[in-house]
Amino acid sequence: MTYCRKCGAQLKDNDVFCFKCGETVDIEANNLSEANMLTLPQTKEESISVAEKLMDEYASVEKLLKEINENEMILSRPVIIDGRRYTGFRFFWPFLIYGYLALMAVYIVGVIICVLNEDPGGMVLVMFIGLAAAGGLMIWGGSLAGRKRDRLNKELSDEEYEKRKRVKELVERTNELKIKYNNKVNEFSGYHQYVPYQFRSKQHMERVVFLLETNKAENFSDAIRLLDN
Ligand SMILES: [Zn+2]
Repeated sequence: MTYCRKCGAQLKDNDVFCFKCGETVDIEANNLSEANMLTLPQTKEESISVAEKLMDEYASVEKLLKEINENEMILSRPVIIDGRRYTGFRFFWPFLIYGYLALMAVYIVGVIICVLNEDPGGMVLVMFIGLAAAGGLMIWGGSLAGRKRDRLNKELSDEEYEKRKRVKELVERTNELKIKYNNKVNEFSGYHQYVPYQFRSKQHMERVVFLLETNKAENFSDAIRLLDN
């Protein structure tokens, strides 16, 4: 009986990945279950059909493993979520300058008009108009800046949500693939005792079929023996 070294889940004898946490199981600790043992066919025809079956099997297992590895590679890269947000002041500060310029413009024009009309009392009105213009600009700027801040911050949090969702989906997909991989490996584990680990590939099974078809090998185990050379 094997157990996952990371989460302790009880694993089947030929599991390569933990079905619970996805941890890779040590191949060495991966013993063959006796109950699964199969008897190899002796005739050439049956041997070829076994090799062809294994060819498809190993091809699909390789494909699964390739996608698992690609996903793990993506998942091993850090996902940058810095939680950064915009402040309203970032968009508001230009309005401080606009307000100041408006105030100055009103004063200069106002002072000139007052001087030309010889009306010093008009300066109070000029001061009010200047402050009102500056104040109005500030209020308008404040609401514009606030809306822009909210819109951009919503985009940032939507983006972060999407990033997290993509990672979560990839983890789920990869765990599904690992379970599929385990099932595939277990399904054909009865042949493991006849096919050494390094020969469990599509290419090697193609070679086995070739050896059988060209009469270089008499049966399956004979062909496997020849792969060693
Ligand atoms: Zn585990």
